[in-house]
Amino acid sequence: MIDEYGREIDYIRISVTDRCNLRCVYCMPEEGVPSISHDEILRFDEITRICRVLAGKGFKKVKLTGGEPLIRKGILSLIKEIKAIDGIENVTVTTNGVLLEEMYGALADAGVDAVTVSLDTLDPEMYRRLTRRGELETVLRGLTLAMRENRIPLKINCVSVYGVREQELLKVAALARDNAVHVRFIEMMPIGMGREFTFVGEEEIRRMLEEAFGPAKTYGGVLGNGPARYWEFEGFKGKIGFISAVSHKFCSSCNRIRLTSDGFLKTCLQFDEGADLRRILREGGSDEALAAAIDEAVGRKPLGHNFGEKNTFPEGKTEECHR
Ligand code: SAM
Ligand code: SF4
Repeated sequence: MIDEYGREIDYIRISVTDRCNLRCVYCMPEEGVPSISHDEILRFDEITRICRVLAGKGFKKVKLTGGEPLIRKGILSLIKEIKAIDGIENVTVTTNGVLLEEMYGALADAGVDAVTVSLDTLDPEMYRRLTRRGELETVLRGLTLAMRENRIPLKINCVSVYGVREQELLKVAALARDNAVHVRFIEMMPIGMGREFTFVGEEEIRRMLEEAFGPAKTYGGVLGNGPARYWEFEGFKGKIGFISAVSHKFCSSCNRIRLTSDGFLKTCLQFDEGADLRRILREGGSDEALAAAIDEAVGRKPLGHNFGEKNTFPEGKTEECHR
């Protein structure tokens, strides 16, 4: 689909659950998110139906996320069902990696096209503090297995959290030196609990990395579906990417929309604009009605967010990234 600003929108990020087995300090409160009842969450047949309608409109790429997508029962069947839809070329998962070791083989068998593992530190104590309950060792076992088996393209996402020591970011970056895996540093966005954190920008992290690993060259190619810009460091097997929504706003090339776990189609991460697809589904709406609501919502897709600017969140506008 082409939106009113000429952007090609062909990628949907679907939150399959609002729940999570971790409580990262910048994402969720200690007690977890207020639970959405089971009935309010989209069923798999509803999600695949929306994906079919989207595929008919030229969508090619689907990301399953959350909350933590791997805790949703039946996630492997959902992956297979979406993979089987004509026109969908790419189904990927973003996970905290807690269940990666036990699910890796099944994810590969289900045909998942790529897995991104979120990992902000390699220090077990810091990991426990950041995630409030995670065991780093469990995630590392999953990563080691994934790198050894190499059946699914793998990336690591690291949110730059102020207060995580420089040495820690360097250690995460070194995973791309020692393994054929890309590590992407993500600027903390002022969404959800992220608003309470001090921002560390791309320039600062790149300077740290260049001091430690020597000068980097920009990589001109495209890797993956997203807005990451990649750099190459001498002697590294993988690349270092930056996803810098705040310091290098990429809204002009935004290719995505989002579906919350309760079925609301959001056309921009920051705003509540979009369409209530669950209402249409549950009121017996046709595929044409779904398609019309999608057309209308994408037609109104905002030009961009205003993270990093004053009054980022106007009265009444809220954002929770886990939905
Ligand atoms: N639970 C899975 C995980 O952690 O990978 C998937 C959902 S999580 C919301 C997806 C990604 O968003 C993670 O890499 C996480 O670190 C990132 N994230 C969460 N809050 C963020 C924020 N305020 N700014 C930037 N990234 C954030
Ligand atoms: Fe859970 Fe991912 Fe949010 Fe951490 S970032 S609390 S793992 S959803």
